[in-house]
Amino acid sequence: MSFSRVKDQAVAMRLLSSIIRKERIPSGLLLWGPEGVGKRLAAFEMAKAVNCLDMQGDACDACLSCRKAISGNHPDIKLIVPAGKARMIKVDVVEDMNQTTAFRPFEGRRRIFIIEEADRMNEAAQNHFLKTLEEPASPTLFVLVTSHPRALLPTIRSRCQPVRFGSLRVETVADLLVRQRGVDPVTAEAAAALSQGQMSRALDLVESDRRKMVLEVIDRLGRGEDPLLVGEWFAAYLQKVEAGIAAAVKAGPETDDDDASDGDNRDERRNKEELEAEVAGRMRKERYELVYLFQAWYRDVFVYATTNDVSRVMNRDRIKDLTSVAGTNHAAKLEALDTAWLYLERNLNPGRVFRDLFFALAG
Ligand SMILES: [Zn+2]
Repeated sequence: MSFSRVKDQAVAMRLLSSIIRKERIPSGLLLWGPEGVGKRLAAFEMAKAVNCLDMQGDACDACLSCRKAISGNHPDIKLIVPAGKARMIKVDVVEDMNQTTAFRPFEGRRRIFIIEEADRMNEAAQNHFLKTLEEPASPTLFVLVTSHPRALLPTIRSRCQPVRFGSLRVETVADLLVRQRGVDPVTAEAAAALSQGQMSRALDLVESDRRKMVLEVIDRLGRGEDPLLVGEWFAAYLQKVEAGIAAAVKAGPETDDDDASDGDNRDERRNKEELEAEVAGRMRKERYELVYLFQAWYRDVFVYATTNDVSRVMNRDRIKDLTSVAGTNHAAKLEALDTAWLYLERNLNPGRVFRDLFFALAG
């Protein structure tokens, strides 16, 4: 059974399955919920199940249609993903999609477009998509996948049947980290607990040095180092991260549209703005993730001190440190973290926000 591959989303999977069995397939489905919880996988399983030749309400994974889908060769299953350095889904891609729906599916019951990160359609693209979504000329199912449904126009959202996804269980994430990624079980458990049930976030924690940096700050402050110096060191780290993000964005795949070398200044300026917005957006996310890790730590210190229960602690691979560098006055520290979050939301200078935070966390 193919829907069973999607973990911890029983309600969503039952809904998708019943949509097929009752033959009430809408033209648009909106798969929404946190990042990294199986929405993309579910969209693909749905695409298979809709056209499966042998099963009703799920995919058999064995018939010709399923096998073509698995090998990526099903002519009626199309994947739309953000493209270019700024990772957008542009009007011309939507136009292609609209045109394609004018023709009947090649062999399947229905043509399926999976639109990943549908929120990456800008407003023009969304408006262009609206009419086709409402009334596709041939049997078509658009499966929109997003973690930011509010970035979609209300008119798009109201034309789709929503399917909500929740967080994964900590055990599921830990298990996936160990079995699929070869992470050692102790690290996997901590990363899973800190991931808030999001596989992508857990992976990011394991693969980036974000957590290492946060723990080092906590350790240094705990040993009585000058928060000003720690702040400077941390600012340098943030700069390095930003440079890395900027380089990654710049080195991203090009689309025709990115390359504004045909001399149109307006296009060039627009592209530049899009790239800067992409870097700024990723950096903002990075800073929130950092503050979140500090919050998780001081929350753990408090929880462990009061309950002595490891299972309630997220940083469970660091139990010894939780007690030894605990410090005092947790309430004030947690409050300072809330303030830091608020200031970042208000776009205050991040270097200063972290420096002030470190003064509050010291001692
Ligand atoms: Zn099948």
